[in-house]
Amino acid sequence: MAIISGVLIFKKTLDLELTSSDTVYLSGKKRRYGIIIKRRDFIKAMGAGAVGIILGGCRFKSPWSTVTPDNTSSADKNAPDFAGTVEYRTLRGGAKLSTIGLGASALHESSASQIEKIIAFSSEQGVNHMDTVMSHFGPAEAMGRALKRRRDKMLTIMHIGVTYPRQTYTWTRDLKEVRQGFEQQLKGFDTNYSDIGLIHYVDQPNDFARVMSGGILDYAQKLKQDGTIRYLGFSSHSVDISRRFLETGVIDIFMFSLNPAYDFVPVDGKLKLSEERRQLYQEAEKRGAAITVMKVYGGGRLLSDSSSPFGRAMSAPQCIQYALDRPAVVSCLPGVRNMDDLTSVLAYYKASPAERDYSFIVSARHQDMNGVCIYCNHCQPCPYGIDIAAVNKYLDLAQAGDGLAKDHYLKLRRTARDCTYCGACVPRCPFHVEILKRMREANAFFGR
Ligand code: SF4
Ligand code: SF4
Repeated sequence: MAIISGVLIFKKTLDLELTSSDTVYLSGKKRRYGIIIKRRDFIKAMGAGAVGIILGGCRFKSPWSTVTPDNTSSADKNAPDFAGTVEYRTLRGGAKLSTIGLGASALHESSASQIEKIIAFSSEQGVNHMDTVMSHFGPAEAMGRALKRRRDKMLTIMHIGVTYPRQTYTWTRDLKEVRQGFEQQLKGFDTNYSDIGLIHYVDQPNDFARVMSGGILDYAQKLKQDGTIRYLGFSSHSVDISRRFLETGVIDIFMFSLNPAYDFVPVDGKLKLSEERRQLYQEAEKRGAAITVMKVYGGGRLLSDSSSPFGRAMSAPQCIQYALDRPAVVSCLPGVRNMDDLTSVLAYYKASPAERDYSFIVSARHQDMNGVCIYCNHCQPCPYGIDIAAVNKYLDLAQAGDGLAKDHYLKLRRTARDCTYCGACVPRCPFHVEILKRMREANAFFGR
């Protein structure tokens, strides 16, 4: 009886949640972050009988529908073990996300059976969410099979506005196609809900206006009302658009490109943290909207001495730690191609504080930023209506391996092919970017 009373007091002061087959999540009600302990240690500490009562009496957060036992495993007994090291953060509304999620954009580089193993291994380690957008829809069936076995343990992020005609990624603002695209994703992943639904990739003011007035935000809100999605958000690379979305007051979470290469901008010959980006993160925090991070390595730019703006490469754990230290950030979603990529990413959890420490970027001798486009738009207006920053951005992303960037480039109203090489933009660029050369490069790279 004494044990039971102790347990009840214990349960009253802590949130308790089963997070995977062998871990238990504990968090103080007032603490934002919790801890994961091994189930066997928890049982040892509390006494097996008491634990039986707790587990029996506790309403585990199983966000949706049926709970299917996870009877599969990654099967690779030699794989490194990260279980018990994974950290979690809490969304408004209670769901807990592992601070690293699985980005599926490059999963098509693995076979179907490898994809199932990657998802199984992620889940076994405690990774509990995955972004599902990808350049080809081919892996969807394997992903759906893997998800079905652990649907309550692996939260999904699906994108509203993404569609895969002929199995190939594209995006749309046509409401009918938006609906069809979302239904296609649900069907393809063999599920009837997504834990998180994001209005996809809104970077331009006119596109934002279409989302607002064309019924897409209404559709997304309806999905939330009827329980097809639990959390509503958007994805964007733009501070301005993100701020506009936050002002709607309906955003729970958003996916944002966040890393030191984008956050630090040249000011008086030095790199400084961008004030507008800093304010965006604070605004999100104030409103209780969470950020999940894409492009955590700056499209790979930060991982090399030659392309890092800090004159020296950052390591993957340093990039991840930087992102997780920003206000409102709950998780990072590095894209993984295979099991090696996944274990490299998860090595963050075993990195020491010294290995995660990125403070050198503040005092590093900053690399000369001349010639590097930072997408500031100072070169506008182009008399031929070319969004020069967008051309540069999609070219950089595509060259860094972003499989979605080409489609976004091809949807620009004017592309590099429309450039007349008049040179009007060149003197307006404070960073001496060779814009004419970039236009030629983009034209050749994208074929228009
Ligand atoms: S050089 Fe090309 S991009 Fe620059 S202003 Fe002229 S047409 Fe526009
Ligand atoms: S070309 Fe220069 S001015 Fe134009 S967006 Fe890039 S950095 Fe800014």
